Amino acid sequence: MSQKVSRKEIWYETLHSSFGQYFTVDQELYREKTAHQDLVIFENAALGRVMALDGVVQTTERDEFIYHEMMTHVPLLAHGNARRVLIIGGGDGGMLREVCRHKTVEQITMVEIDAGVVEFCRQYLPNHNAGSYDDSRFKLVIDDGVNFVNQTDEIYDVIISDCTDPIGPGESLFTSDFYAGCARCLQPEGIFVAQNGVCFLQQDEAVNSHQKLSHYFQDVSFYQAAIPTYYGGIMTFAWATNNSAYRQLDNATLQARFAASGITSRYYNPAIHQGSFALPQYLLNALSAQG
Ligand code: SAM
Repeated sequence: MSQKVSRKEIWYETLHSSFGQYFTVDQELYREKTAHQDLVIFENAALGRVMALDGVVQTTERDEFIYHEMMTHVPLLAHGNARRVLIIGGGDGGMLREVCRHKTVEQITMVEIDAGVVEFCRQYLPNHNAGSYDDSRFKLVIDDGVNFVNQTDEIYDVIISDCTDPIGPGESLFTSDFYAGCARCLQPEGIFVAQNGVCFLQQDEAVNSHQKLSHYFQDVSFYQAAIPTYYGGIMTFAWATNNSAYRQLDNATLQARFAASGITSRYYNPAIHQGSFALPQYLLNALSAQG
């Protein structure tokens, strides 16, 4: 939703009817109604290029590194030996860029429902993919993620659901059908992570995901990071595995694995990794009340 004002257009994000955020649109770079979503990319003085889908901000150049580093390095370094990675969504390319930094990963599949997002982000958000779309390990599949995970005969070590919120095409990626499909194509010792919203404002989404994932995985929890663009506090990332030890790795192990990876980061470090599994009491209370 946007309205013209005297100096600059103001772009409002109103995820919640009485609470939101705004961006000045310094220059609209691209707007397209793709087959699935209304896509806009614009320049903002504070956050750089901003991409929104169906009126909801997906990513900004200024703070995307926090989200993409936490959704890749935490599961991949916790796993310690991931060779095959599946990204669901991720059309802006930021998640792929960070997965590609892990040289031990041999194959990366990305299942994105909207070819337009890949095409337009490749052109207008080049810093997100940073050339990773040309990585020889990468394979792009244009499909609904829920279809893919329920039909593929491939098996993965880590699955990363980098999806929109559960509205529009993203809705199917918060269903039991999707989670069952992920459990189906994940190695028994595999790790599943998913963006699960800002828990202070979208607590029900976290509780619902936890309840559904618990039917398919033995150890389900969350980890968290604060990303300024996803306003309202910490964003929770769903965490689902069959091995609770993955969440309890000691600092020395994480330090050694991070050093061996040779990755340089701007947000992630082993202490942040360990601390990210500490959750606010209100969320813990809501999860235990759910049973
Ligand atoms: N960082 C963002 C967030 O936290 O909301 C997510 C960014 S990424 C651009 C979200 C991607 O999910 C989009 O490219 C969108 O097209 C894709 N997507 C939405 N629903 C999907 C589905 N059912 N299957 C595959 N991709 C989907």
